[in-house]
Amino acid sequence: MQKYKAYIGGQWCEPSSGAWFDAVNPFDGKVWAQVARCNGADVDRAVAAALDAFTDGPWASMVPGKRGALIRKAGDLLIEHAEAIGTIESRDTGKRITETIPMVEYIAEWFYYYGGLADKIEGRVTPMDRNDIFNYTLKEPLGVIAAITPWNSPVMIAVWKIAPALAAGNTVVVKPSEHASVSTLELMKVFEEAGFPPGVVNTITGFGEDVGAPLVAHPDVAKITFTGSESGGRSVNLAAAAGFKHVTLELGGKSPQIVFADGDIESAVNGVISGVFLSNGQTCVAGSRLYLQRSIADKFLKILTARLSDLRMGDPFDPKTQIGPIANRPQFEKIMSYIEGAKSEGAKCILGGAVVDGPNCGQGMFVEPTIFTEVKSDMTIAREEVFGPVLAVMIFDDEEEAVRLANDTIYGLAAGIWTKDLGRAHRLARRIQSGTVYINTYRAVSVVSPVGGYKMSGFGRENGIEAIAEYMQTKSVWVNMADGMANPLDLGAD
Ligand code: NAD
Repeated sequence: MQKYKAYIGGQWCEPSSGAWFDAVNPFDGKVWAQVARCNGADVDRAVAAALDAFTDGPWASMVPGKRGALIRKAGDLLIEHAEAIGTIESRDTGKRITETIPMVEYIAEWFYYYGGLADKIEGRVTPMDRNDIFNYTLKEPLGVIAAITPWNSPVMIAVWKIAPALAAGNTVVVKPSEHASVSTLELMKVFEEAGFPPGVVNTITGFGEDVGAPLVAHPDVAKITFTGSESGGRSVNLAAAAGFKHVTLELGGKSPQIVFADGDIESAVNGVISGVFLSNGQTCVAGSRLYLQRSIADKFLKILTARLSDLRMGDPFDPKTQIGPIANRPQFEKIMSYIEGAKSEGAKCILGGAVVDGPNCGQGMFVEPTIFTEVKSDMTIAREEVFGPVLAVMIFDDEEEAVRLANDTIYGLAAGIWTKDLGRAHRLARRIQSGTVYINTYRAVSVVSPVGGYKMSGFGRENGIEAIAEYMQTKSVWVNMADGMANPLDLGAD
């Protein structure tokens, strides 16, 4: 059985504990690899390697243009490695191969974009209120960045953090999820092959409490950028506060999709399927609350349920498969318990609600696309993130009610609005409290457009120009241009 070691200081390292944990293929239920079970000693090694690389040696003295060129080279190599990385990610997470390989190829754009930005980070000359002082600002890196990622899109989310962090001149220690670690280790080969100095990018694998917590608490970590659940984010935020560390949190959501009677129903159905069913709802922007204007509700649900009734579920490596398995057992159990909970709270299950055990499903954990109607705003299924293929449908009568219902959540990650009324679309874009608003489209992402949460979906931004500021701090430099500094004890003439 192949063993995947941690990547620390440019070396592939056995875990200090001597222990390994299993990587499980969610389609056949088999253990397919073993992964280094790192602990606090490995955290210390990785942070020390990252700090050394930050303070001394070729990375510390590299001019920004050269740094950018190296980051862009990582983009070229990522495309060359896309098949290997995508294959691992499909094996580890159950995501379809038709999705993972193109996704890995596309995320090379993050290396090109931020590599290009590396030598365009500028301070400014301050228009001072004194003629004898020349004052300017420098934009400087923070130091060692801890990048903690979830299991749903491990490589994409890691690259969203690594590329801007490196462009700003930091060094990085990545901690992927224990449920999907291997593709991130495979990604390290890109940095190795590109010729990044040792310690600039490191990956340590293991569990939240063994690796994540000591990494966040480590005194030499300057910033934590965390993507994961609300509860994980809360622990990280508290620990970061105790250590006075910078922090970015990309957390969960309960994103609304609002369909008005004047919207294009076919497109909206596509948006709902893409948002909450295509990746089994295992996406942070899952549009898991659907608000339908009363007059079109029946028609909409008829089209939606018909479209979902003959999906091809099966092997993520079969190019014809439309839906793969749920990524791991704890997540599968969580989804099923939310489905049972919704039924017992009185929501009406009009589609799905059960485990699929078809001939193409291997030993996988497949859940039927599930739709609940007669959902009330205070039901758990309307309030908590399921992270599964489960849709809660509610009805509204007018725009005011739609806005009120959509904003009635602790989260604020994304929202979809389906209408042909241009004025209403832009009105709602301002009134909906979420970091992303999609109008007549859904679940799109681009390196140039910032992503992040309002409310308990987190704070800080990834992607776009904004993201690079998350990895820098500002220094103010004062230069006295007068002929010497005045005597502070001189009180002037008697
Ligand atoms: P999770 O919070 O369980 O784990 C995320 C990571 O944090 C893992 O690597 C885990 O080992 C680590 N971790 C857990 N406890 C920790 C601790 N105390 N200190 C430090 N690290 C710790 O989340 P998950 O189940 O892996 O991922 C699913 C969640 O991620 C969902 O809520 C989803 O919405 C969210 N997500 C958000 C975005 C976004 O951009 N906002 C994107 C993808 C996923």
